[in-house]
Amino acid sequence: MENNDHPLDVSVVACEKYEPQQAKAALLELLAPLGGLSFVKPGDRVVIKANLITFLKPDKAATTHPVLLSALTELLVERGASVVIGDSPGGPFSLPYLKRVYAATGLNDCEKAGATLNQNTEIRETDFAEAKVMKHFTYTAYLKDCDHIIDFCKLKTHGMMGLTGGCKNMFGAIPGTDKPEYHYRYPNPTDFSRMLVDINAYFKPTLSICDGVMAMEGNGPSQGKPRKMGLLAASRSPHKLDLVLAALIHMSREDVPTLAAAYERGLIPSTVEELSVSEGWERFICADFETIGMKRGILFTDENAGLKGRIRASIMKAAVQPRPRPKVEDCIGCGECAKVCPAKAITMVEKKPSIDYKKCIRCFCCQEFCPIGAMKVKRTALSRLMEKIR
Ligand code: SF4
Ligand code: SF4
Repeated sequence: MENNDHPLDVSVVACEKYEPQQAKAALLELLAPLGGLSFVKPGDRVVIKANLITFLKPDKAATTHPVLLSALTELLVERGASVVIGDSPGGPFSLPYLKRVYAATGLNDCEKAGATLNQNTEIRETDFAEAKVMKHFTYTAYLKDCDHIIDFCKLKTHGMMGLTGGCKNMFGAIPGTDKPEYHYRYPNPTDFSRMLVDINAYFKPTLSICDGVMAMEGNGPSQGKPRKMGLLAASRSPHKLDLVLAALIHMSREDVPTLAAAYERGLIPSTVEELSVSEGWERFICADFETIGMKRGILFTDENAGLKGRIRASIMKAAVQPRPRPKVEDCIGCGECAKVCPAKAITMVEKKPSIDYKKCIRCFCCQEFCPIGAMKVKRTALSRLMEKIR
């Protein structure tokens, strides 16, 4: 387990709406039991790694809300820090592209609070010997040119990972156009999650905060439905934060591959009950939150299962694994899904996507980047039945 000098593993507080004064007060209350922002010294440079997935307005609940980012910026500036907010959304990591995303996601308002929106598009390569799977990788340099990273994620469902929170948010360290390559390098959720845990181990965010005021349910992480949860959550550990986020939307460690990968490395306990969380946090649990439902734990490959076990697992996987499927009547034929598909599994036929499921690696990039939500995650009949039985 990680060492933590603070009595609470995860802090959870109410925040009813995106109103500046309320947001600032809620952040102060949230961070107090974790030691506040005392780690920030005058003159420090702090990078807030937001979730700016794509050009979506704040009311879509796909991105970290600018009111919260502004409130955090003010608190950091009051401590004498300089603040940079950034992300590498899907797409080119170039200044014109970033500026379009900043404008759409309402981030320009954060400049009034004293933040600089990242303009540095330098990319670096690094070796990371301690990594479990990703020993060498490319990343966006601005994230390393600072004293602290604050990982400010959004609570959302995710096609491949089930849930995106603190751990998955750090995938934004990989330049947007390189992301499909990493999906291809780590095509199954287990290895992809191990890679994400490596990224977190490399960047070591000092603090992870989650915007759960308006979460996203259903077809997340970009085209789901906003769902009011009315909360903020934070932790010194992105993985402990995620264990609580999962519980809040009625998922468990077995359902979320990034949690399984964190557990495997001793970064989280087996269940949320073993964490110390703010008193009364359970009142925020949303029992009918619409997850991208399937019990992902059953997809994990048992590496000690032997040949027969592995064959059985791969047959089960084919039978229960969800797959992307376009809703043809909604599709506008833009071809974005074919463009982002790392496995080249999509061809456009008469302006509609046709998916070769033998090539498909179930990364759900097509679903994530479809601009109108026409690409859905479809579960098989067997997986629906198994979930009912459970
Ligand atoms: S079809 Fe979609 S889910 Fe399958 S590999 Fe391509 S982008 Fe990933
Ligand atoms: S990205 Fe969406 S709208 Fe565009 S072609 Fe693919 S499914 Fe259709």
